[in-house]
Amino acid sequence: MVQGSVRVVQARRRQRQRRIERRVDARDPGPVDLDRQRRWIGIRIRIRIGIRIGIGIGIGIGIRIGIGLRIGGRVVTATVLDGKLVAALVKDEVRARTQALAARGVTVGLAVVLVGDDPASAVYVKAKTKDARECGIDATDHRLPADTSQAGLLALVARLGADPRVHGILVQLPLPKHFDTDAIIAAIPPHKDVDGLHPENLGRVAQGKPRFTACTPAGCMRLLAHGGVTVAGASAVVLGRSVLVGKPMALLLANADATVTLCHSKTRDLAERVAAADIVIAAVGRPELVRGAWIKPGAAVIDVGINRGADGKLIGDVEYAAAAARAGVITPVPGGVGPMTRACLLENTVRAAELTLG
Ligand code: NAD
Repeated sequence: MVQGSVRVVQARRRQRQRRIERRVDARDPGPVDLDRQRRWIGIRIRIRIGIRIGIGIGIGIGIRIGIGLRIGGRVVTATVLDGKLVAALVKDEVRARTQALAARGVTVGLAVVLVGDDPASAVYVKAKTKDARECGIDATDHRLPADTSQAGLLALVARLGADPRVHGILVQLPLPKHFDTDAIIAAIPPHKDVDGLHPENLGRVAQGKPRFTACTPAGCMRLLAHGGVTVAGASAVVLGRSVLVGKPMALLLANADATVTLCHSKTRDLAERVAAADIVIAAVGRPELVRGAWIKPGAAVIDVGINRGADGKLIGDVEYAAAAARAGVITPVPGGVGPMTRACLLENTVRAAELTLG
């Protein structure tokens, strides 16, 4: 009896899945013929001028330029959100704030800790310290061998935590496997946790009273704002529920009055959920998992994923060309979320220094 009703439920679920796939296929504009498209390139330029007022910082005038490409007779409607450009704007703001602090006798200090010799982590750390120095932040590298003990790393974190010249501490993740990463993050004083991963800082985001917000989700919010995306009242789907990206992302969107669905590896009907979303944030780490045909026309698509394609090139979690033909705004990979993550680290660091002045 029970087995019979389970089979009925499973059959209905399969029928429903097939109906969804048929609906999604019907919307698929078909494969993209890039060779044919290249012959049709045209450019649409949209210029928007707005005035932004930053509380406690001053008044800024911003100019936004969106470029849409007409490719292969099919209009790529999406405005491409240029993460490098927005990151440069954030860095300009950070530079002005470090200069203001310097005028008050404070040199903003960031300590970056790298354990082991993971090449990707070494590249990230180099880029972060370079960015920081460009913005007038005194960034110091602390490199420890891969066989450093938990106690050894905790001792360094404690020393940096007690150093008044250090306003922000960043421990580059992932740590080698023998570390208890949660314990290391918890040992960073919350007022120096510029990565925004300490339980206290994550908790404050959950309360809607953030001090430091995790850098990648903060960068995504900045990109949405730059793209003129209305978050309040929007239906948002976040793919991925990591503590680093997905969970804080869902909280930030909810704090900004979006109605949020948090999807993960066990989510059923992913295509249907994405197809209903005004905002899609993909943070999974699976190349082109999100098909272009799933995207609701006019939706905002933020691709956090960084994956290496078979040809060695970086690709995101979203099928970019097909998604750009349907979306309202979209981020590229590379050049979208990545630069924003680094810029938001600088913003958190200067904020940490400002907070010491009360
Ligand atoms: P993670 O591995 O910690 O989490 C991945 C999440 O995806 C998990 O919550 C899992 O449940 C979910 N998931 C797996 N398969 C899924 C599926 N089929 N459908 C829906 N959800 C699924 O990864 P992470 O640290 O959150 O990073 C995610 C991606 O973002 C990676 O590609 C990473 O490199 C990238 N990333 C980029 C930046 C940046 O600055 N651009 C920063 C952090 C992470």
